[in-house]
Order: sequence, then structure tokens, then C-alpha cells
Amino acid sequence: MKQMFIGGRWLPARDGRTIPVVSPADGEAFDQIPRGTAHEVDLAVAAARAALEGPWGCLAPTERGRILVKIGEAVLAHKEELAQIEARDTGKPMSTARNDIVVLARYFEFYGTAADKVHGETIPFLAGHQVSLLREPLGVTAHIIPWNYPAQMLGRTVAPALAMGNATVLKPAEDTSLSALRFAEIVTAAGLPEGALNIVTGLGEEAGAALAAHPGIDFISFTGSNEVGTLVQQAAAKNAVKCVLELGGKSPQIVFDDVDAARAVPIVVRAIVQNAGQTCTAGSRLLVQRSIHDRFTAQVAEAFAKVRVGTPAMDLDCGPVMNPAQHRRVQRYIDGARAAGIPVLAEGSIAPDVPQTGYWIKPTLFGPVPRTAALACEEVFGPVLAAMPFDDEADAIRLANGTDYGLLAAVWTENAGRLHRVAKAVKAGQVFMNCYGAGGGVELPFGGTKRSGHGREKGLLALEEVSSTKTLVHYHG
Ligand code: NAD
Repeated sequence: MKQMFIGGRWLPARDGRTIPVVSPADGEAFDQIPRGTAHEVDLAVAAARAALEGPWGCLAPTERGRILVKIGEAVLAHKEELAQIEARDTGKPMSTARNDIVVLARYFEFYGTAADKVHGETIPFLAGHQVSLLREPLGVTAHIIPWNYPAQMLGRTVAPALAMGNATVLKPAEDTSLSALRFAEIVTAAGLPEGALNIVTGLGEEAGAALAAHPGIDFISFTGSNEVGTLVQQAAAKNAVKCVLELGGKSPQIVFDDVDAARAVPIVVRAIVQNAGQTCTAGSRLLVQRSIHDRFTAQVAEAFAKVRVGTPAMDLDCGPVMNPAQHRRVQRYIDGARAAGIPVLAEGSIAPDVPQTGYWIKPTLFGPVPRTAALACEEVFGPVLAAMPFDDEADAIRLANGTDYGLLAAVWTENAGRLHRVAKAVKAGQVFMNCYGAGGGVELPFGGTKRSGHGREKGLLALEEVSSTKTLVHYHG
């Protein structure tokens, strides 16, 4: 049974309650994590505050950066072990889990080496005055993350906060807390002072809600569903705390008639089936110019039909979905689209020898999907791709922007002018041109527009989100 990591110590929940850890590949519980509550959140916030006032807060940026770089190295040294933990906890294929651990390490390397390169400015002002702008940490930062990429999300949100000198409290998803807890042991060995990172495990509505509403936090980063994001933002507003929200997406692949199909097809398929479609940036809408719609979707269908689903050890294209609720949700979208008569263009296959008790979904390509269908507008968060034809550039842009979301988009055309026009017109935090970049890319600022959220993570811009400025005005005569 696992314990929580608070103030450098390992603790069970005060009332001893636990949450079972279930493998999505067979539905079997194989461990327990503590069911932390407001009490443990109080302890974690106090430990973080103490760290800011203690050894962690006294470190020079270069020293902080060195510790972060060491953490990245330690993560790589434990890559195989962490990948095994992550794969068992999430059900994802081993090679995907290995990649996730490499990305986790990369976040610490990137932000560790950036820690002493963030500086303030001077500002010209009245005669006899000297004005400088300091960049400072916010204080205690709270981080609530989902279950789809537990290790990557940890790195994405915690590493920049630590690099700027904040002290952090992380609430991993209740389904997938194991890699974060093992990471905490690794971090201690790499020399992170106690209280700089605290991990409270527990349910969203208990530990998560208590953390979001805690008066002792100075910032909150939330990645997850729109429903919970709204609650988190309301809680942050009550304490006038800055909040970054990374929510859902319904990202379009916009394919014009001059596409390099040989290059595009495998990328289009991978962008929806990777992580069993449980990726906020999944390319879940395939918008294809009408003149090539049937030909191009037939090529996608051929590749899609080769997608194979299996256990982490089988290491196929994707694994099961995360939990029974997610399984019901994705299957409901598939059944609903079939019942509505939307044609199935291709299905992947589930390996015959997977445990029958796992949460398996057959990847499915539908098309043409009516523009008003649920599949065309709502986030499925599963391996389901909706193909739709468009007429011309203006229609493509209208269709691409026709959902509540605006997280990612891709444009596929050999016409450079069109590539840039469409990329500028699409509402999204990132647009890929003749490529697609879900996951990884720690250098690239990332985040949503519209209902996909606000604020930026990744890249150097993330450091601005987790810091504040102070203007010093000095009259020297
Ligand atoms: P979720 O919102 O249910 O849970 C996310 C996290 O919030 C978990 O840690 C959970 O314990 C916590 N939580 C739940 N209720 C809470 C509450 N009342 N107060 C505070 N915290 C609470 O989302 P999920 O089901 O875990 O993840 C799937 C969703 O997340 C999808 O909609 C997906 O698009 C989105 N997502 C977005 C991104 C992104 O970067 N934009 C990344 C991954 C997932």
C-alpha cells in the first residue's frame, strides 16, 4: 500500500482510508493509495509554505536549476521501472510509457537549465528615478492533473513552477497516482529540499476540491474536464488566485486536395489512436476537401484497419481506455453514431488474447459524419475519428472553428500561402502545418482558446504563468 508525500515524509490518510488501484488491462485491483482529504491538503500547503521560508526559498536560481537537472537525470536512470509503473497504472503500451518517462525527464532538464535565465528589466521613467522590474515566484502553487498522461503532466506543470522557485502541491488523478509517488522518492534522492514538492492522493471531489479552494495557495494549474475546470476556476476566483486551465479539445486535421497523402495518412491515424484517443490534443476530426474526400478517407481507412489494441506488454498501437466510466462513455458515442446510421469506414482490432475483463474499445473511423452530429462537435476522449468533407478554404475554416473547443489543429497542403492563411484563421493554441504534434515538444508553448481553457504551459512562456513581477521605483535625485 502506498503513502502520500508531504513535507518530505510519507503518510497514510489520517483516517486510514484508501482507494484501490486498478489495472485497465484486466480490471483487477493491484495496490492501494491513500484517500487524502482536506486535512492532508492543509498539511501539504503548510509544508510548501515552510519550504519557501526555509532552505528551498533560499536557493539561488542556479542551484535550483541544478537540482531540477539532477531530477531529470535520475528519472532517466529509473526509466524502465517508471515506465513499468506507468504502463500498469494506465494500460498504455510499454513503448508509449517509456516515451512518457523520457518526456518527464526532459521537462526537468528544460526548466532546470532555464531557471537562471529568467530575469527582470529596467524601465525608463522620470528624471532622477531608477525603475526595475523583478520577476518573482508566486509562492505555493497547486497542480491538479488527469489520468491520461500522469508522468508527462507532472513534469509539464510542476517543473516550471519549481524552476521559478515556487513550492508545489500536486494532486494526481485517483486512477493514476503511482508514477508520481515513485517520482517523489527519486526526487528526494536528487536533493530537492523537503516541502518543495508535496503529493496528496485522493478523490477529486475531496482532496482536489480542498486544494483548489485552499486559502493558502497562490496559483492553481488544472488539467482535466471542462466541468471540473469550471469548478476549479470558481474556487480560485473566491480566493482571487490566478488559474491556468487546460481542458478538452476536438482538434481538426484539415486536409486539402494537394496533400502529400503518403506523409499525412499515418500521422492522421496515429494522432487519434495514440493513448487510445485519450489525449486532449487528439486529432479527432478529419476534415477533407470534397474532391479528394472519398479517395483520402479510403487511404486512412486502410491504415486505420491495421490498428491493433492490446495489453501494455503486447506493446501494440494502443491499450484499453482508463476505467469503466470512460469505457461506457466512448462506447456510447460509437453505438450512438451507428444507431444514427453514420457509416463505419474502418475498425481496428483488439488482440484475441487480451483479458476479457479489460476496458477494450475497437478504434473506429466514421464518415461522412453530419456536421451537427455529437461525433462532430463533442470530445469523445477515445479512439474514434470523425471524417467530414468541406468545399473550399472558407468552408474548411468555418468547419474547423465550428466547435466550442480550440486546442490544436493541423493543416495539410502543399500550397504555402494557403497553409499560412488557414493556420492564422483557425482558433487554436497550436497549429501544426504538414505535421502533427500531440505530446512531447516541451519547448512549444501550449494551451487552449475558447472552451479549451486559458493560460500557457510548456516552453519559456510557462515560466511567466508561474511567476509575478514587482516594480521597484527608486528616487535617487
Ligand atoms: P477530471 O476533470 O474528472 O479530473 C481531472 C483531475 O481533477 C483529477 O485529478 C481529479 O481527481 C480532479 N478533480 C475531479 N473533481 C474535482 C473537483 N471537484 N475539484 C478539484 N479537482 C477535481 O478529468 P479526467 O476525466 O481525469 O480527464 C479527462 C478530461 O481531461 C478530458 O475532457 C480531457 O480533454 C481533459 N484533458 C485535457 C488536457 C489538456 O492539456 N488540455 C490534458 C489531459 C486531459
